[in-house]
Amino acid sequence: MRIEKAERLKRLPPYLFKELDRQKEEVRAKGVDIIDLGVGDPDLPTPPHIIEALKSAAQDPANHRYPSYSGMVDFNAAVAEWYRGRFNVSLDIDSEVVTLIGSKEGIAHIPLALINPGDIALVASPGYPVYHIGTQFAGGEPYFIDLLKENSFLPDLESIPSEVVKRAKMMFINYPNNPTAAVATKEFFDSVVAFADKHDIIVCHDAAYSEMSYDGFKPTSFLEVDGAKSVGIEFHSLSKTYNMTGWRIGFAVGCADLVNALGQVKSNIDSGVFQAVQIAGVAALKGDQACVDQMCRTYQERRDILVGGLRSLGLSVEKPRATFYVWMDVPKGYSSAEFSSRLLSDAGIVTTPGNGFGSAGEGYIRMALTVAKERMKEVVERIKNTKL
Ligand SMILES: *Cc1c(COP(=O)(O)O)cnc(C)c1O
Repeated sequence: MRIEKAERLKRLPPYLFKELDRQKEEVRAKGVDIIDLGVGDPDLPTPPHIIEALKSAAQDPANHRYPSYSGMVDFNAAVAEWYRGRFNVSLDIDSEVVTLIGSKEGIAHIPLALINPGDIALVASPGYPVYHIGTQFAGGEPYFIDLLKENSFLPDLESIPSEVVKRAKMMFINYPNNPTAAVATKEFFDSVVAFADKHDIIVCHDAAYSEMSYDGFKPTSFLEVDGAKSVGIEFHSLSKTYNMTGWRIGFAVGCADLVNALGQVKSNIDSGVFQAVQIAGVAALKGDQACVDQMCRTYQERRDILVGGLRSLGLSVEKPRATFYVWMDVPKGYSSAEFSSRLLSDAGIVTTPGNGFGSAGEGYIRMALTVAKERMKEVVERIKNTKL
């Protein structure tokens, strides 16, 4: 039998990293010691107190059954307590918090709760691909807003054509940002609330990197600004904050009607997060946050080695204030793909070409700070020895 895939899969954009993956295998097969700065997955382990909490919770038969759909009361309460402590925002644990199987799950599902055929979701280019793909899966149309360096990689909402604004049902924003590492100001969030209010556009803010920041900078929550809770929902993840990408736990908070709508989709698709993982999540959120400070210090040190090193080689690169990404201009004469490919073939370094995150990412590459500092020094050394 010939398996005919659905149109929604056939319509997916071509996988842009195919050629790079092939090249990576080719270089690896030659025995080259590859340094991989390609993936945004922490290389550090989950802190031990979180693992201990999982171990004992896994032993308890009460946790072997289906969890509640909206999340355990204890987890949602820990989220609310953490939120108030971190952002000074109060949340009603019954109606304004929903537990997610990682924030990607919630981000991918929320368009199913909101989008009708023909509706537009505003998404950024470059950006995390789940926003536009979730939109397309739900039958909606993504409209890409270019994030430009001259606007500090914040979307220019005034540049969106009025007929697009009229059809827009929702928008996705993400600060601190993957892949550009840009951060948002409170004024920007204020302007988003005003725009959303004026045009009836729901705001979905992805705050996966809210805890990964440097030099004393603390990112704000979208919900900290006046009026945000009536127009938006914010997605959080334990993945990056506590090195828990494999555990699959996150949460969404904000406007009760949005939390409810997302919960309704989820209750018809999944059955929640393993309770032992939620209990470990409680240990993470309520426990000592020194592990988070330690994580930030580790990435900051790597950042300084990489950015300092690249600048000393005459390359143009900003020092990120948050996220574990360095978003670098490719040198003149190269496309993103060409430069990435050059770093791989001549230096054995894997990076991600910026155009893989959308056409406005052309001209940049993304490097993740996910290797130890000795390896980071080696990265600089290898680039120095490459004729660019
Ligand atoms: C890593 C990441 C997430 C987190 O995904 P999880 O599903 O929570 O692991 C969300 N958004 C962005 C932009 C990310 O880079």
